[in-house]
Amino acid sequence: MGSYFRNLYQSAASIWVGLNITLKHMFTPSITLQYPDERWQMPERARNQLFNDIDDCIGCDQCARACPVDCIYIECEKAGPDEDLGLTSKGTKKRLKVLRFDIDMGLCCYCGLCTYPCPTECLVMTPNYESSVYDRTDLIYRYARPWDYEKKPADAASAERR
Ligand code: SF4
Ligand code: SF4
Repeated sequence: MGSYFRNLYQSAASIWVGLNITLKHMFTPSITLQYPDERWQMPERARNQLFNDIDDCIGCDQCARACPVDCIYIECEKAGPDEDLGLTSKGTKKRLKVLRFDIDMGLCCYCGLCTYPCPTECLVMTPNYESSVYDRTDLIYRYARPWDYEKKPADAASAERR
């Protein structure tokens, strides 16, 4: 008999909790957003689309090694003795040609772990979350510009930096 009344009390209490939430929301203003005309302001450290400023990438592979799902693909080639690849914006000498730097955002879990070890801070998570595509292959973002390495003599590279 005791358990009967206890169950009755618990049911009434849980109904009251649910109704209480409904009642509270009845008197608060609606927060529906008319997307895409209106958009939420992303928090300062929101983790969305990755971006690599390839001019500052030294091809060190640290981001790829940190990635838990292996969705960063990097291919590099050592610069020849007569090649000067220049410096990053922070003054780090570039010794590797980054021939491939792809990120498969279809596999990415947006953990941000790849951005922390980057020594030149060129790999960042941006606030851009609107990156839907119709074809999954379009989620592979290619940042490398292999054509930039087509035979560049040392004096031409240093003239560019001036
Ligand atoms: S955010 Fe996480 S899953 Fe995505 S590429 Fe970086 S380390 Fe990999
Ligand atoms: S950690 Fe940074 S510098 Fe190194 S390969 Fe990745 S993006 Fe490039």
